[in-house]
Amino acid sequence: MGLYLARFTSVPEACTFCGVRETLAHAYLQCTRLQLLFQLLQNLLLRFWLHFSPHLFIFAHPIRGPTKSRDHLVNFLLAMAKVAICNTREKRLAEVGPCDCGAVFHSFICSCIRAELLWVAFTVSLEAFEEQWVLSRVLCLVSASGSLVLAL
Ligand SMILES: [Zn+2]
Repeated sequence: MGLYLARFTSVPEACTFCGVRETLAHAYLQCTRLQLLFQLLQNLLLRFWLHFSPHLFIFAHPIRGPTKSRDHLVNFLLAMAKVAICNTREKRLAEVGPCDCGAVFHSFICSCIRAELLWVAFTVSLEAFEEQWVLSRVLCLVSASGSLVLAL
């Protein structure tokens, strides 16, 4: 797996966060630095009535008709978590920027939600935004006055 990771990024002998020999599995699943991010994902997914697991994290959630909106949102969260892991790992290797993947994940999601709400304010209906982002109020809601309330 280390060879696979090396095709896309530099691979140090040891993880720069914990010192364990670095592999793809270590970088994206096993490093102790990921525990807070995985706990956050677990809490979010439970609110969607799903259980977080390494299998789900790797392969994503299947899209099904009746739960299509939720499934897409869950897969978006899983993808953003992977981006946060990659982003913070690269910043650590370059010795620049924040390295807390949970905080970066949180920032990515909040930024996406804010940008989407701004976008729909000028283009489509608020109902479209709520249908995509406000499912079960897990991530956010829009108050009666139109203000965004983040729930992350
Ligand atoms: Zn590590």
